[in-house]
Amino acid sequence: MDIEKTLAAMTRQEKVALCTGKDFWRTKAFEHLGIPSVMMCDGPHGLRKQVGEGDHLGINDSIKSICYPTAAALAASYDIDLLYELGEALGNTGQAENIAMLLGPGVNIKRSPLCGRNFEYFSEDPYLTAQLATAYVKGLQSKGVAACVKHYAANNQETRRNTIDTLVDERTLREIYLPGFEAVVKEGKVRSVMCAYNKVNGTYCSENETLLTDILRQQWGFDGMTVTDWGATKERPAGIAAGLDLEMPGPGRQEEKVLKALEDGALTEEALDKAVRNILRFLDDTQRLRQANASYSLREDHKLAGRYAMESAVLMKNEGGLLPLGKNSKLAFIGEFTKTPRFQGAGSSYINASEVTGVLDCVQGLQVSYAQGYVARDTHTDPVLLAQAVQAAKEAEVAVIFAGLPNTIETEGADREDMDMPANQNELIAAVAAVQPNTVVVLHGGAPVAMPWISRVPALLNMYLGGEDVGAAEAALLFGEANPSGKLPETYPVQLQDNPSYLNFPGEGGKVDYREGIFVGYRYYDAKNMQVLFPFGHGLSYTSFAYSGLTLDKAKMDDSETLTVRCRVKNIGAVAGKEVVQLYVHDVESTVNRPPHELKGFAKVSLEPGEEKELCFTLGKRAFAYYDVDCKDWYVESGSFEIEIGASSRDIRLKAEVTVESTTTRKVLYTRDSIAGDVMKHEKGRAILTKMFEKAGVVGDAQPTEMAKSVEQMGEATPRMMERALLETPISTGVTFGQMTEEELQDLLAVLNK
Ligand code: BGC
Repeated sequence: MDIEKTLAAMTRQEKVALCTGKDFWRTKAFEHLGIPSVMMCDGPHGLRKQVGEGDHLGINDSIKSICYPTAAALAASYDIDLLYELGEALGNTGQAENIAMLLGPGVNIKRSPLCGRNFEYFSEDPYLTAQLATAYVKGLQSKGVAACVKHYAANNQETRRNTIDTLVDERTLREIYLPGFEAVVKEGKVRSVMCAYNKVNGTYCSENETLLTDILRQQWGFDGMTVTDWGATKERPAGIAAGLDLEMPGPGRQEEKVLKALEDGALTEEALDKAVRNILRFLDDTQRLRQANASYSLREDHKLAGRYAMESAVLMKNEGGLLPLGKNSKLAFIGEFTKTPRFQGAGSSYINASEVTGVLDCVQGLQVSYAQGYVARDTHTDPVLLAQAVQAAKEAEVAVIFAGLPNTIETEGADREDMDMPANQNELIAAVAAVQPNTVVVLHGGAPVAMPWISRVPALLNMYLGGEDVGAAEAALLFGEANPSGKLPETYPVQLQDNPSYLNFPGEGGKVDYREGIFVGYRYYDAKNMQVLFPFGHGLSYTSFAYSGLTLDKAKMDDSETLTVRCRVKNIGAVAGKEVVQLYVHDVESTVNRPPHELKGFAKVSLEPGEEKELCFTLGKRAFAYYDVDCKDWYVESGSFEIEIGASSRDIRLKAEVTVESTTTRKVLYTRDSIAGDVMKHEKGRAILTKMFEKAGVVGDAQPTEMAKSVEQMGEATPRMMERALLETPISTGVTFGQMTEEELQDLLAVLNK
């Protein structure tokens, strides 16, 4: 398609009409112009291609499709190749089903454990989110199906999700909430971005020019199509002016309004043309990348889902090596999730799973008794079910309880009220653990839960929401046919009250203020040196790993260079396994508040017993930088940085230091309120002030003044105190106390600001 020619041939009415969908899932066709209609559907962990009535809550029918583990689980894999491969599988299915665009991935940060959609999001950490989402996008788009990264931006709760105003400062936005989007735009070349329902700092995301144009297009170079979340349109003319191209679902109800705004001059034709161009380019790319011969096999892809679940499971606790289980042991499998596992979340991402495997289907022929234990939809204990479970546990050598959050508690559209699992499940676990010391809990759910029973349960395997083949993955992991290798993509706090957003979630008066700033997740817990239940990055294995040989290719560098970090990891146990090695960067000294350390690299390495491999990481400027709101750019403050290699954020095994010099001269504006301490950092300023101090007799060999004399009489601690006090003093005080004239002060400022 010749985009410019097509655009020129369109009437104003046609252009306005193209900027809104045809129906729930399709764009409009204009046959006489050669503009096709294309279909999109929900993801992100499968295809929700609807067959009848459309909806955005996962209610009506859709085709049978593979339900892969959700993002919360996939993040625990820390496996970039896996995410790429999943993207490819989805892309292939998408092509076979003639889907132009899959609505995902969701890269919103898990700010609070309570967000109802946490299961659809990757992590509390922006770097991990960015890396995994980028791989997914690249894989998906390699098959010619567009990804639509969502929900842009600062959409981290479901309470009042359509209208909430997120108040977030710029540094926090740039460092925590935007990097996921930034990476999929810059590196992933994502073809579409979905705006969120909420407002950011007073303006709806669907009309937010700062987000949609300034940051997305001008700063990050996005050249794809923006689309509203389903029903996120408020004032359509304002949306088009701000840079929102396609309104979904269609048909839009504001076409007349847009036409009127164009007539009145409130909306320019130029703005409309921009949106139309972006949509035409998207449609043209879709046609060009179409693979009409694509085909897929549900049977084959079902196995992929199982493999991904295995790679994503996190062995959180395994005292006394209780796991893996022996195949000859007498086992009690307890819990409704044993037969009907919880493997995905409710809402728009709900997949009509092709075939669901419960763990009980996978233990035929073994000595496994079953007790339901609880009713998943209920929170009350059923005494009969509880008694049966306790009896089964008593009679077995090991009890395995399959527990977690049911759909009723964790769903799109509603936040959780607390961090608790249903009371009946907590009671069941406590009762079983009281009679059976060998109790294993297998956890299901998309976000942290409180674990009042954890000290009495020796083993804990977290499956997150493991997709439709989760049962097979569980059996393989429990019996040691697969070795757990996932690591937590988030912190499990001891209690909800410890979470940094606790006092400001979900907000009040229609606003939610992100007062914790950049201190989200482990950035906060580690800064406060707080006890946590399980730290970010934690995960055990049936083998163990030794870390050694950390080297940096330079001890000094400037921020335009890259640093190569190498280390070795060895499998020192008896079975093959995979380790997720994490690299954190710690700014040793900083004038701005920075987290104690931040994840800036990770690698998943597979090792046979006794095998050792070298890992290599490359760190560029962003690994050391913070977002400087004055410069409106990423800035590295010159100084030392520690490179930490760890098995979790709280289990740092190796450390080395590098000095990084900034290549940016930071323009500082000096005023009469600038303090002496800051002026002393300026070469010429230091010389002038030192002279002045000498004259006042506070420093140097000059004859002591009255003030200096009294200082001498005040005792030994005083010189330090005086020096500190002096450095804290605004330079204008020099005029107040007659140590310089107003003219001299102005001359000093002129020198400083030159
Ligand atoms: C959700 C989106 C989803 C869309 C279409 C909205 O309610 O927020 O994530 O893609 O519906 O179903």
